[in-house]
Amino acid sequence: QAKMSRPLQARRLEGIDKNIWVEFVKLAVTYSKVNLGQGFPDFPAPDFLQEALARALGGGNHMLHQYTRAFGHPPLVKVLAQFFEKLLGRELDPMTNVMVTVGAYQALFCCFQALVDEGDEVIIIEPFFDCYEPMVKMAGGTPVFVPLRPNPPKDGKLMSSADWQLDPAELASKFSERTKAIVLNSPNNPLGKVFSRGELGLIAELCVKHDVLCFSDEVYEWLVYDGKQHIRIASLQGMWDRTVIIGSAGKTFSATGWKVGWVVGPDRLLQHLRTVHQNSVYHCATIAQEAVAQGFQRELMLYGKPDSYFVQLPKELQQKRDWLVKSLDAVGMKPIIPEGTYFLVADISQFKSDVPDVPNSDEPYDYRFTKWMVKNKGLAAIPLSAFYSEAHKNNYTNFIRFCFAKEEATLKAASDILQKWKQEKTS
Ligand code: PMP
Repeated sequence: QAKMSRPLQARRLEGIDKNIWVEFVKLAVTYSKVNLGQGFPDFPAPDFLQEALARALGGGNHMLHQYTRAFGHPPLVKVLAQFFEKLLGRELDPMTNVMVTVGAYQALFCCFQALVDEGDEVIIIEPFFDCYEPMVKMAGGTPVFVPLRPNPPKDGKLMSSADWQLDPAELASKFSERTKAIVLNSPNNPLGKVFSRGELGLIAELCVKHDVLCFSDEVYEWLVYDGKQHIRIASLQGMWDRTVIIGSAGKTFSATGWKVGWVVGPDRLLQHLRTVHQNSVYHCATIAQEAVAQGFQRELMLYGKPDSYFVQLPKELQQKRDWLVKSLDAVGMKPIIPEGTYFLVADISQFKSDVPDVPNSDEPYDYRFTKWMVKNKGLAAIPLSAFYSEAHKNNYTNFIRFCFAKEEATLKAASDILQKWKQEKTS
């Protein structure tokens, strides 16, 4: 091997090379019979979307195989602007207030690269979608963590994601003149928490008071249950000018592999995201953007109506959630009922005797449990402590996350595994 006198790896990669998905996706592929780990549906994307893609592919417009506008295929940014005008109650310019990205991942990457500088602090609410932390660090910023604290109900009822709350004084103490931005993820992955108007109001007030930006990851905006409402922080007093809304067709239309995402926000912020975008990926597949545009056209026409996919999908997922809640509760793996998303966190503290202790291992219990479960029971999940900072992960090792965006047969197979496991334990 060639020897170099200088370090090979750029300094910005130091300490961020470990990644939960590499290890756990491989484990799931190798051992799982039922995969409720990574967040993607195993049911098909809706027919109208598949048909739109087929039309885009063979419909005679060969230019759909070529480059399109860098900041978003015109039909897609136009319909996104129309859609978000409705949601936000403000006029939007499709060319300056919307940009299409390679999934929400690249939208996030653009936010951090464009708006976070060396020495800036970025507040992250724990538990969080794991890429926020390395993305802040790669931009030269310092992540500052504030946890959602669980308050279990006293009446013995199952906990809800709403029982995980910010301590207002603790949150306020994290804001300083070094704070550049806060990352908000509502509905939240992994807990499924849907932030209330009061909670969003508190965050908004602090952002305005300290002149802080908000990167609002709303990829699960349509996946909200029990009649709850997703509230967009950008619609709160003083927030439009300082918020970037992040969305994903992957989650919205159950097509995670298409990797079409977007940002919506004021031009004063988006102009800098465009600079990062044009100097990195340039744009994502034209044909996928065309099909997503048609999907949104349909949804615009059916807005709020029973046939809308954004009405139907949460209805179906709520039933799947309830099924998984029941299956887990029946075996003593206490579920925390999610108000939104397609994730569910469950308490594994009653299963300690099932998993062999590994002497001298500093691996947290939830990691050991998840690995043991996939290898011995064929059921894949993700340890919750993967969604915490190094400093706090040891406080949250009694939980794992399941994804319930799955076919009924998949959820039934998961339930069978759990039932059989329980019978083995009691016999
Ligand atoms: N944000 C959150 C909260 C997510 O859960 C995900 C996907 N798991 C993403 C962003 C990335 O979305 P995409 O697949 O569109 O890049």
